[in-house]
Amino acid sequence: MKAQIITIGDELLIGQTIDTNSAWMGAELSKIGFDVSRKISVHDSYHDIKNILGEVTGRADVVLITGGLGPTSDDITKKVLCDFFNSRMVINAEVLSMVEEMMKKRGIAMIERNRLQAEVPEACRALTNARGTAPGMWFEKEGTIFISMPGIPYEMQYIMNEHVIPDLKKRFSSRCIIHRNIMTYGAPEARLAEMLTGFEQSLPECIKLAYLPNYGVIKLRLTATGENKNLLEKTVNEQVNILYEIIPDLIFSATEESLESFVGRSLRKGNQTMCTAESCTGGKIASMITGIPGSSEYFKGSVIAYDNNIKEELLKVPRDVIRKHGAVSEEVAKRMAEGARRLLKTDFSLSTSGIAGPDGGTREKPVGLVWIAVSSDRGTVAEKHLFYLDRIANINRFSYAALNLLRKQIEAK
Ligand code: AMP
Ligand code: MG
Repeated sequence: MKAQIITIGDELLIGQTIDTNSAWMGAELSKIGFDVSRKISVHDSYHDIKNILGEVTGRADVVLITGGLGPTSDDITKKVLCDFFNSRMVINAEVLSMVEEMMKKRGIAMIERNRLQAEVPEACRALTNARGTAPGMWFEKEGTIFISMPGIPYEMQYIMNEHVIPDLKKRFSSRCIIHRNIMTYGAPEARLAEMLTGFEQSLPECIKLAYLPNYGVIKLRLTATGENKNLLEKTVNEQVNILYEIIPDLIFSATEESLESFVGRSLRKGNQTMCTAESCTGGKIASMITGIPGSSEYFKGSVIAYDNNIKEELLKVPRDVIRKHGAVSEEVAKRMAEGARRLLKTDFSLSTSGIAGPDGGTREKPVGLVWIAVSSDRGTVAEKHLFYLDRIANINRFSYAALNLLRKQIEAK
């Protein structure tokens, strides 16, 4: 079951509109067992669109197309489809009455251009669109199904959910696909791949492994395809158990979730609370934590101690400690965490002090250096990390590194 995606529109090629449609459609197709092998973006050019349609014919079971269906002259997809399928335009009565109804509800007078929206090539089956005036269109040629939809994401999503997905499910019912995401932190991609060489080699035929890194968090995606859903589930579960045996310390979750969500879940389970004392991350960690619904149960607050005076006055980091070791140091990170835990009265506290860049680095303390610390009733631990990245990426890496240290401390209890 192979699928391809074609997105049409000048705006997609000049970077004015980001093509979110293909990502969304790819995810939906994959859920129902399709292997999406290619996506193509084309500008609003008659010949280029027609050439692409010819190129994909017979090469995929399903081709999803979006864009170029508006009532204006720059949108030409419908005309190209009509010619490509050697058809002629006819008014679709059901679509016409829906468009008329929609215009009436909005209090807008019907004009010829609106009426033309109800014109579709005779060769297609029209897919009604309750969110807009342009219907979707379903064609078939030489074993390939072509489905054309408007570019506006919420209209496309309506047609997909209402018509395309249910109809494709009926036509292609035999295959199923399962994605399982295992979340890891602590080993860079290359090292993780080394550790999993044997695992990869002995994976069953029906399972594929992908590495998806994001600021130190690496998602391992196991994709299983086959006919028997229960058997696939069982096979995937066996592989997940093997992964736990090989990299027990690196896995923080066997379902797709963020590190901050996992930390929150762990705190909630233990009835524990936390706070942050953030210098170089400027509240980023607090923001990540509070992005999780229900975080008020375990998150008390944050001291954004960007300036040394704040570290001294609010977090009670002694001035001579800062003077002696510098703000970016193990001693200061530890004192910051301890000060915040005292001030905000929590079970855990997390601190960061580092150099995000691009300025402020020295030979001993380069840009990308961070000290992070976690304090709890078991004492205070600190870690040093060095990432050679740009400012935003450094701040993200610092935040994840800190959250991971907190995770380890929570788990150690
Ligand atoms: P159209 O069907 O070509 O009239 O597209 C209407 C609007 O939908 C465009 O102006 C874009 O803002 C949006 N759009 C078109 N294609 C995409 C796409 N692939 N991803 C996200 N938005 C899109
Ligand atoms: Mg367009």
